[in-house]
Amino acid sequence: MRGRVRSLGARWVFPVEGPPLPDALVLIADGRIAEIRGGARRSADIDLGNSAVLPGFVNAHTHLELSPIPGEPWSEENEIAWLARVIAQRRGSSVEGLRAAVARNLASAISAGTTLVADTTTAGLSWNLVAEAPIRALVFCEMIGLRRQRGIETVHEAFAWLSTIRPEMQVVACARPGLSPHAPYSTAGWIYDRAATAGVPLSTHLAEMPEELQLLRCHNGPMRQFLEDLGAWDDAWEPLSPRPADYVRKGDLRRSDWIIAHGTYLEPDDFWQLRPASAPNGQRVAVAFCPRTHARFGHARHPYREILASGGIVCLGTDSLASAPSLGILDEVRALHRSDPSLSGPLLLTMATLFGAWALRAESVTGSLKPGKSADLAIVGLPDRHADDPHALILDSDFPVIATMFEGQFVAGLGAGR
Ligand SMILES: [Zn+2]
Repeated sequence: MRGRVRSLGARWVFPVEGPPLPDALVLIADGRIAEIRGGARRSADIDLGNSAVLPGFVNAHTHLELSPIPGEPWSEENEIAWLARVIAQRRGSSVEGLRAAVARNLASAISAGTTLVADTTTAGLSWNLVAEAPIRALVFCEMIGLRRQRGIETVHEAFAWLSTIRPEMQVVACARPGLSPHAPYSTAGWIYDRAATAGVPLSTHLAEMPEELQLLRCHNGPMRQFLEDLGAWDDAWEPLSPRPADYVRKGDLRRSDWIIAHGTYLEPDDFWQLRPASAPNGQRVAVAFCPRTHARFGHARHPYREILASGGIVCLGTDSLASAPSLGILDEVRALHRSDPSLSGPLLLTMATLFGAWALRAESVTGSLKPGKSADLAIVGLPDRHADDPHALILDSDFPVIATMFEGQFVAGLGAGR
């Protein structure tokens, strides 16, 4: 019923922009947050009990069309061997099979409290399903190819897809299109330049592994062998630059918004250029760090601390089920907390929500709990104990997301759809 104010009460409310509030009430009207009151839980229409209300999580990097690839999650698997298995999975799947995976994985992401997702997809394949789902989204059409002919095909495919998406569809669907040149090792530099002419947000896998750096610097190594074996290598290929960061900052490339997936091997000199203050025209560049995928391949320590300390934005992604055990950002937050307990609770929650919303230009509607923003919420069960810092109740437990609210409606858990 439009206009009706509904209120949710919970043991803790974490607005993210502001300190956690005990026994708090979130008032919702017309799908938006009307007010948040600490200490007023008793008057709630729905008392969520021993739980926490947080902004819906933002997954800044995933591939919903991919399915699990068996392997020991923490075994430091050879990443190139893993890539070969991902390619085999995608080539061995029908379009219907990939769409079925998108539908399954979307439902799983929403159940995990995700209310904004950045999905990278082959030829725009996930768009219709994502656009119809109760979630905000950026859908990046993947572009891939080193060889000239393959490059022409991927550019044609991507621009043809973009031309099918009308602006009014984006408003209704809460979804926007973007392009994703896959990675410097797999995608010719001119394709990056073409992507940047589209005037849409961009995403790329960058500075992901040492083999990528070796290929860009010396044109050889295991990555070249891998590309030759695939039939994807081009003898005439020249990188745009030996430095991965140049793929998002050289010339007109710096005029677009970029989500950098991974960025593990960015160099210290690159960090300050990631600061919002360094952007020439307000462009946004953010690193989407995927902690469990990072751990799976046994990479060097990720420089998230240094990037943040330089004023850059680091948000979180799950990457796909091919490398991570779930599509839950809360699972990523807890894994990161376990591996680096020195990261503060408020910073971790900000990386999981508001920083991702900023990176996807959605921070005016979502990413924190503030009057006027959409009621996009994740509700997390809490353990029955006291903690001096309430963040510990979320970070040091394994209680799951029990419900997800999108625009004031429960879309998973607590009687969703009724
Ligand atoms: Zn990825």
